[in-house]
Amino acid sequence: MKAYIEEAERDLLHTYNRYQIVLDRGEGVYLYDTDGKKYLDFVSGIAVFALGYGNKEYNDALKAQIDKVIHTSNYYYNVPAIEAARKLKKVSGMDRVFFTNSGAEAVEGAIKAARKYAYLKDGCTDHEIIAMNHSFHGRTFGALSVTGNPKYREPFEPMIGHVKFADLNDIDSIKSQLTDKTCAIILETVQGEGGLYPASEEFLRQVRALCDEEDILLILDEIQCGMGRTGYMYAWQKYGVKPDIMTTAKALGCGVPVGAFLLTEKVAANSLVAGDHGTTYGGNPLACAAIEKVLDLFEKDHIIDNVREVAPYLEQRLEELKSKYDCITERRGTGLMQGLVFDHPVREIIDRALEKGLILINAGAEIIRFVPPLVITRKNVDEMISILDTCIGS
Ligand SMILES: *Cc1c(COP(=O)(O)O)cnc(C)c1O
Repeated sequence: MKAYIEEAERDLLHTYNRYQIVLDRGEGVYLYDTDGKKYLDFVSGIAVFALGYGNKEYNDALKAQIDKVIHTSNYYYNVPAIEAARKLKKVSGMDRVFFTNSGAEAVEGAIKAARKYAYLKDGCTDHEIIAMNHSFHGRTFGALSVTGNPKYREPFEPMIGHVKFADLNDIDSIKSQLTDKTCAIILETVQGEGGLYPASEEFLRQVRALCDEEDILLILDEIQCGMGRTGYMYAWQKYGVKPDIMTTAKALGCGVPVGAFLLTEKVAANSLVAGDHGTTYGGNPLACAAIEKVLDLFEKDHIIDNVREVAPYLEQRLEELKSKYDCITERRGTGLMQGLVFDHPVREIIDRALEKGLILINAGAEIIRFVPPLVITRKNVDEMISILDTCIGS
C-alpha cells in the first residue's frame, strides 16, 4: 500500500490531502484496502454508494448494458435515458430532466436555465442570483460562483458575477439582497459540505412565497441531501416546498458518474431550447442504466423505510456521544446525514478511526460528517459508535 501511495503522490495533482489508504474492493457496508484490511464505511464515497457495495442486481444491470452499448450521443434517443427520466420524474414530481455527468454540471445547467428564463422575460443580461453563506455547489465556475465559502472562490476570481450571498434560515437576509434583477435563489435543502445545516420549514415556505410573488426561480440543490438520505426521496418533499429547478447527483447513479437538473414545465417551456445547452456523455446508456436500476432498487428494497428506521437510532447514539464528551459541542443534520461538531480539528480523530477500521469524513475542519450507505443497520451504528468512542480524546 505504501508503494501505491508514493506513486500516487508523484503522479496525481495534489488537490486532496488524502487519507493514507488505498481502497480496493467493497462488500455491503464494508470496504477493503489493498492490504486486505476491512473498514466499516460511514462515508459511502461522500453520500454516493447508497445501496452498499457489490449489489448483485445493480452490478448485473451495468454489465448487461456494457454488453449492449455504453455510449451513443444525445443526438439520438436511447432506451435507458427514456426509462431513467420517467422514473426520476415519478420520484421527484418534476416535469423535465437534463442528465449531466456530475453535480457541478447539474448546477451549471440550473443556473443557465434560470438566467435564460429571466432573459426571455425582459431581454436583459444583468440578472442576479442569491446564494447562501456556507453553501457548497461544486468546483466549476458557475457552481463555484454560488458557493458560499470565500476560501474556495478567492484564488479563482473573477467569478461569473452578479451573485449575492444571504444567510440560510433568515428571510430578512434574503430580502436585503433582493433587487429587481434577481432571477433565482439557490440553496441546499440541507447544507452538506458547509456544515450539516438543514433549511427550516418556515424558511423554505417564506422563500417559496417570495419567489412566487416576484417570479423568481427557486433552485434547490439536492445533490447530497437527496436520494432518500433524509428519509424522503428529496429533502424538500418533507415540507412540500417544491422548487422550480432541482439538482440531483451523488447517489443518483450510485457510483457511475451522473447527475441531473430537473425543471417544472413552466420553467422548461420558458428557458433552454435546442442549441442552448449540451453534453457529450450526459445521460449516456451506461449512466442511465445505473439510474434506472438504482431507482428500481430504492423501491424494491425499501431503502427509504430503512433510513427512517435507522436514522433516529444514529441520532440517539450520536447524542449519547455528545453528552459524554465536552469537546463535542453540537450534533446537527437530519436522517442519515449527520454531523458532530467539535471544539477542535477532527483530522486526528478520523485518522485514528481509520487505523481502527472505520471510515469517516469531515465537513469543514471541526465537524465529523456521517453519510453512510442507506442500507446500514442499527448493528452497524453500534459498531461505528464503539470505534469512534475509542478515538475521541485518547
Ligand atoms: C457534491 C456536491 C456538489 C458537486 O457535485 P460534484 O459531483 O462533485 O460536481 C454540488 N452540490 C452539493 C450540495 C454537493 O454536495
